[in-house]
Amino acid sequence: MRNKRFLSFSALTAAFSLFLSGCAGSQEASVQEHTAELFAMGTYMNFTAYGEQADAALDEAVSYVEEWESLWSVTDENSEIYAANHSNGRPVPLSTETENLLRFALEMSGQTQGALDPTIYPLVSAWGFIDQEYRIPSDEEIQELLSLTGYEKVTLENHAVTLPEGMQLDLGAVGKGYTGELLADHLKEQGVTSALLDIGGNIQMVGPKPDGTKWRLGIRNPFEDGSFGTLEAQDCAVVTSGGYERYFTGEDGTTYWHILDPATGRPADSDLASVTIIGDSGVLCDALSTAIFVMGLEEGIQYWETYGGFDMLLMTLDGEIYLTEGIEENFTPEEEFSGQTIHVMEA
Ligand code: AMP
Ligand code: MG
Repeated sequence: MRNKRFLSFSALTAAFSLFLSGCAGSQEASVQEHTAELFAMGTYMNFTAYGEQADAALDEAVSYVEEWESLWSVTDENSEIYAANHSNGRPVPLSTETENLLRFALEMSGQTQGALDPTIYPLVSAWGFIDQEYRIPSDEEIQELLSLTGYEKVTLENHAVTLPEGMQLDLGAVGKGYTGELLADHLKEQGVTSALLDIGGNIQMVGPKPDGTKWRLGIRNPFEDGSFGTLEAQDCAVVTSGGYERYFTGEDGTTYWHILDPATGRPADSDLASVTIIGDSGVLCDALSTAIFVMGLEEGIQYWETYGGFDMLLMTLDGEIYLTEGIEENFTPEEEFSGQTIHVMEA
């Protein structure tokens, strides 16, 4: 690991909100910009795509999102996940998209040694993160609900899922990343060569900006409004997880966030404030942003050293920044973080 100190950033124009600085202004006049906005999967989504094919392709993209939400929602009584969660041990047939997503989530659960676990739903629900009726479950309740979790107990065969009675799934840690990945594939098939999909802060890009330069993404500051730095990237996914996204403060004064440690059934006791994963596959980035938040700094670095294939940008609870060498040249911290040591991780 090397430590790097950034000295001067006078040339840096602040990217306050989420990204796109310079985007609209720098495109050539002939390139048409099309946008779509929707609220789905519990979050706001903003799509921007360029070129003649973009308009129709975005309309279809919105329909796809609505379709996938209706398959994966834990609250929609007509969804496949709802059916699985109320199946009383019977097999439930799955669409190809749901089957692929669940299979990937289960594989990643194994690879992350259970830091990611899509069977965590009974605990997510008990803590109130589904209906926003936040509460601190008792130790006994947590132990009881933990016996209803465990990704290795899920059977996925013949295009159907079978859950032991009482077990329930939550694809919330991977669904938005998968959505971004599938939408990027769709846009590319439709001939779109430049697009930026913001799925509640999970970013999926198609190609570079229309003028051929990289997109500039503000990475959300987990401690206050604004971003802690700008990442330049193209044609990949940039997915962030952090406790700041959804949390409540208990009567005991403790902050409880929505990312749980499947080993304890409690909010992950992480030394990380946010985890940003950069890679080609949106669903992999989403799975890993959640899992590495659960693992914490040391184990997260070990995971990257073992498996690689992605870059990451970590902000610790102490306000220290760690990044992998592949994005070293593409990341510029905001001024307030610029005096700070940046730890560069090398394979
Ligand atoms: P993300 O925002 O991608 O980090 O996903 C967080 C969401 O995934 C939470 O709101 C829960 O619905 C669910 N979740 C929480 N902890 C876990 C976990 N350890 N493994 C899988 N899903 C989780
Ligand atoms: Mg995730």
